[in-house]
Amino acid sequence: MRLNSKISLFFSFIAVGLVVVVAAINLYAFRIFTIDVSKSHIQTASEIVRVHLTEAMITGTIDHRQSFLRRITEIHGLTDARVVRSRLVDEQFTNSGGEFPPDAFELKVMATGIADYEIIEKGSELVFRNTIPYIADSKDSPNCMSCHFIRKGDEWHPVPDGAVLGAVTMTMRLTELRNQALITVFSIIGTVTLFILVLFFFLRGILNPITKTASEVEEVVRGATDGNFKGYISQKTKDEVGQIANEMNRLMRFLDDGLNHIGNQVSKLTGRQAKENENLLTVTIDMVEGLTKAAHFKQTIEEDESKSEIFQRLSVILQDEFDLHKFSIYELISGRNEMRAIIVDGALSASCRWCDPQILDRPETCRARRTGHLVNGISQPDICYAFKPLPDEWRLHGYLCFPIMQSGTVGSIVQLVIEEENKERVSEVLPYINVYLREAAPVLEARRLTETLKESSLRDPLTGLNNRRYLEEYVETLLANARRQKIHLAIMMLDLDYFKMVNDTYGHDVGDTVLKTLAEVLKQSVRSSDMVIRYGGEEFLIILQGTVEPDADQVAENIRATVEKMRVNIGGDVLQKTISIGISDYPKDSTTFWQALKFADVAMYKAKQNGRNLVARFTQEMWTNEPEY
Ligand code: GH3
Ligand code: MG
Ligand code: MG
Repeated sequence: MRLNSKISLFFSFIAVGLVVVVAAINLYAFRIFTIDVSKSHIQTASEIVRVHLTEAMITGTIDHRQSFLRRITEIHGLTDARVVRSRLVDEQFTNSGGEFPPDAFELKVMATGIADYEIIEKGSELVFRNTIPYIADSKDSPNCMSCHFIRKGDEWHPVPDGAVLGAVTMTMRLTELRNQALITVFSIIGTVTLFILVLFFFLRGILNPITKTASEVEEVVRGATDGNFKGYISQKTKDEVGQIANEMNRLMRFLDDGLNHIGNQVSKLTGRQAKENENLLTVTIDMVEGLTKAAHFKQTIEEDESKSEIFQRLSVILQDEFDLHKFSIYELISGRNEMRAIIVDGALSASCRWCDPQILDRPETCRARRTGHLVNGISQPDICYAFKPLPDEWRLHGYLCFPIMQSGTVGSIVQLVIEEENKERVSEVLPYINVYLREAAPVLEARRLTETLKESSLRDPLTGLNNRRYLEEYVETLLANARRQKIHLAIMMLDLDYFKMVNDTYGHDVGDTVLKTLAEVLKQSVRSSDMVIRYGGEEFLIILQGTVEPDADQVAENIRATVEKMRVNIGGDVLQKTISIGISDYPKDSTTFWQALKFADVAMYKAKQNGRNLVARFTQEMWTNEPEY
């Protein structure tokens, strides 16, 4: 119930209650008062009648009592006066003809000897009737017993004290008194009602601004809950109520400005704008929540070790956060014009599922890669010809391809494949997906740089071969693998013969060219799973996995022979060089890898000693006189 209605109802109750109570009290008081006054008046008159009649009896003028009684009714207000005799008196005195028989009321009064009254309504007339008994009293003067006797047998005796001799009945009109009482009561009720009404309107005047302000506050707060902070409360008074309205308006302005400001800021970050009928507060909360999650995501991926981990986390977000299960993540392979599918539909190292696989070898056929812009295959299904799901799925799916920029070029591509029924939902969350991708981009870039840096520190820039540091990093994996597979490693140490001469004769640049050419030859002489390392200046290391003598010796011999045939063009001249190769076997020669490597070196020097351009396998005799390494 509204406050206004409550107040009105409350006052109505108070008014009705007060009027009823005042009326009841007044009417009761008037009744008591009227009866008391009438009773005392009529009693006085009755006493006068009684005294007069007693006197008349003494003076012998009792026969004139009727005219006396008639005369007495001429007194204003009195309407009737009569005297009746008791049976006692009737027995003693004969009825002279002027006597009235007593009615029931008089008989009762005479029987009890107690005065009584009654109020009689005759039409609109209200009459008060009082009857008092005549009681014999020996102490009175004149003594009643001197005239009134009672017969006992044949003898007459004076009546006893207290015997009722008759009764005087007088009636009085109360109509005027009643009317006057009613007028007074109504005047009081009117005054009380008027007072309540004045009070009511006065209080309404005070309460009106409160109730109006309260309902405006209610409306404004309801609006705010629905996201409208533009509500305004009119100031009705200058007191505290007005102050509440003012402060409330200030608060609303503050909230509106604040929310708009936050909304604009987060809109800029998410790229999402609240629609016209949307609740700005809900949208803002939504956006802040999205940004917070994306910030957590960024924090997590910043601690991830590799790009692959980051891509996997992105894949989990797409599935868990956005309920997307059809997607591809591609990565451009740096240094090569190729790309590879990292994750497809949540699975690692899966093959191209949603696109023509030619994009892997010819990334320029991927529109997102080529343009560096979002490719929206929802609004334009034919925009990219490389999108090739299974034939019966084509029309059922839309696609969105997001390029992730790294160092100004496209580093990776996230492709979302969206079913018809999800298109609208995905369009709504698109800004948030964008935020995740935007957060991932710099971290991916940082990981790429780290990986490149690491790669370069493990690679020899002149020949492009891995260097000794690479071996040091990789050796644990290499040995663990060998132990697990129970295979041998053939370790070959290679050194160019008389290389110093090349530098001395042709210069350092020619020396470098020889080293580069040799590196190419070595790479092509072994399987891709074998390791070719530039171990020192013009020393190379080749590790063959799972190859034992004599195969290893044969490979070494082939390498030696190939190098012998190698021709290096230097300006007009052609240079020919040879190498010496030492071989050892891990774990046959030594269960310690680095010791086995040293043995290969020892064997290589043996080859040098034996005339160069030779392959020498390590034997224990070669090491006998050497101290333990
Ligand atoms: P040996 O047959 O006994 O091996 O004779 P050698 O002349 O090859 O002797 P040694 O192995 O001691 O000489 C190594 C030379 O290789 C010394 C150095 O000038 C040269 N060298 C090392 N690294 C490089 C490089 O990166 N470029 C060039 N041009 N020369 C290098
Ligand atoms: Mg050397
Ligand atoms: Mg040498």
